[in-house]
Amino acid sequence: MALDAEHGQLVMTALDIVAVPAFADNYLWLVRNPASGETAAIDPGDSTAVLAEADRRGWRIGQVLNTHWHPDHTGGNLAVRDRGARISGPAAEAARIPGIDVHLNEGDKVHIGDHVGEVWEVPGHTLGHIAFVFREAGVAFVGDTLFAMGCGRLFEGSPAQMFASLKRLAELPSETLVYCAHEYTLANARFAAHAEQGNRAIADRLVEVEAARTRNEPTVPTTIGLERATNPFVTAPDIATFTERRAAKDNFRS
Ligand code: ZN
Ligand code: FE
Repeated sequence: MALDAEHGQLVMTALDIVAVPAFADNYLWLVRNPASGETAAIDPGDSTAVLAEADRRGWRIGQVLNTHWHPDHTGGNLAVRDRGARISGPAAEAARIPGIDVHLNEGDKVHIGDHVGEVWEVPGHTLGHIAFVFREAGVAFVGDTLFAMGCGRLFEGSPAQMFASLKRLAELPSETLVYCAHEYTLANARFAAHAEQGNRAIADRLVEVEAARTRNEPTVPTTIGLERATNPFVTAPDIATFTERRAAKDNFRS
């Protein structure tokens, strides 16, 4: 089950997905195939947090899936690997992914039992950044590429690369649940409301996000449909507008 951000209800997905909060604002994801019990950890930046949650549930982590090399996503790799997990991550960043066993490229598939995830190369935040798209389950793990009402900073890639990556993700079915790696939604929503004054959908979502965060509730996962309606980086009409908004967000203090 997963929390549907649009309706605030528990919805059945074909995978069990659990958020493990870590550091100041990271979400590490435990993903389990309920039929087979096979479990993956997505971006286990903090091994203590992710192993404690897996142990508490009696889940054995058989594999790690890394979206990119940043330490808040890979810092727990070796400790989880010591417990028997295989590490899969982007081939282009293999030299910086601790313990990597499987080098992934565009078009490769990952499996959690009989659930298949497509590997998409979505450069921008880092040059080798990948996403895992489980079409049948209707879920996508997007790391630091697409955030609720925002997108990752451009540490390595160009605006054109990130813009293309976001547009590609935005073409997934609107009900697709999007699992990003940080709880940045409140700051993103404030920027979105500033960047697109008069946008009713954004203003309404800002109110919802403020209320959720006041109650200390997560705002992730989001959906592709919500992002198409309220994410100023997804809705940017062209690369120039995207570039302007990304630069403005980098300097925005809410
Ligand atoms: Zn990152
Ligand atoms: Fe991160």
